[in-house]
Amino acid sequence: PQLANQIAAGEVVERPASVVKELVENSLDAGATRVDIEIDKGGSKLIRIRDNGKGIAKDELALALSRHATSKVHSLDDLEAILSFGFRGEALASISSVARLSLTSKPAEQSEAWQANAAGSQMDVKITPAAHPKGSTIDVVDLFFNTPARRRFLKSDKTEFTHIDEWLKRIAIARTDVHFTLTHNGKLVRQYRPANTEIQYKQRLGQICGRGFAEQALHLSCEHDGLTLSGYLQSPSDTHVTDSCYFYVNGRLVRDRLVNHAVKQAFGRFNIQHQPGYVLMLEIDPHQVDVNVHPAKHEVRFHQNRLVHDFILQALQSVLEQISE
Ligand code: ADP
Ligand code: MG
Repeated sequence: PQLANQIAAGEVVERPASVVKELVENSLDAGATRVDIEIDKGGSKLIRIRDNGKGIAKDELALALSRHATSKVHSLDDLEAILSFGFRGEALASISSVARLSLTSKPAEQSEAWQANAAGSQMDVKITPAAHPKGSTIDVVDLFFNTPARRRFLKSDKTEFTHIDEWLKRIAIARTDVHFTLTHNGKLVRQYRPANTEIQYKQRLGQICGRGFAEQALHLSCEHDGLTLSGYLQSPSDTHVTDSCYFYVNGRLVRDRLVNHAVKQAFGRFNIQHQPGYVLMLEIDPHQVDVNVHPAKHEVRFHQNRLVHDFILQALQSVLEQISE
């Protein structure tokens, strides 16, 4: 299973940012409202994720590290209508096959915390008593220590950290209810406080997309035939070139040409040379999308592509109609 896990790790664990992604998604799946991310040396030395989620019971710690052990899918119907981020049950097993991983956790209903250690193999997981408040901490130390070829592929600490930072922006803009911190080499780099009001939301939008974008952006909220689109669109009068293009489907960030296309089309009459920025959240019946087309889960496939495109286009157009040229 060690080799199989390392092969799977090739798909899931490309670089430190992919480890952070998998672990933070687990924290969010566990209902965490606070997630602290600590990075040393771009993540090659240490990636530590601490959350206040529901935790993992002592007798499930070892299981959580084994392949295809997911607590999130119970039937085929679940698979089709998946809402949680993780559902393949291989992230922890994959990561622990290419790093020294420890998992410390305390569920609310358990009086003590326990720690599971797996170094390069989940075959001999050691469980020891630990101290930890409700929630979990996952330490990933010396990533790729046993796969030197892959370790050599890592870029500079700064570049790897930038990937982590960029990824966190994407999640922080969708999960404004969660408090995130990001620390690099002992220095606090990002602090995203929970946003419960419009003002706080704009603050977070400003932290991520720039103050100008946040101040001028057009708010949008549309519903039709069970489809909901909400978010912000760069104002046609805001001439800043931004690369803030974020599209979420049921809370999951996806790359999809469909939205870029709809945005360009909607902006047609404004004679804008660059791709306008946007932060758009689409809510759709989970049965109407396939999310599992790629292990990294960036892509989705809509069953009714045309319908979704036209809905988005109309939603954008109706907001832009209120603007004079
Ligand atoms: P998946 O997320 O696909 O289920 P993972 O390998 O990422 O698979 O995680 C395995 C299992 O470990 C999860 O299903 C979950 O039960 C548990 N787990 C992992 N991280 C956390 C966490 N931060 N809090 C609570 N449970 C967790
Ligand atoms: Mg997971």
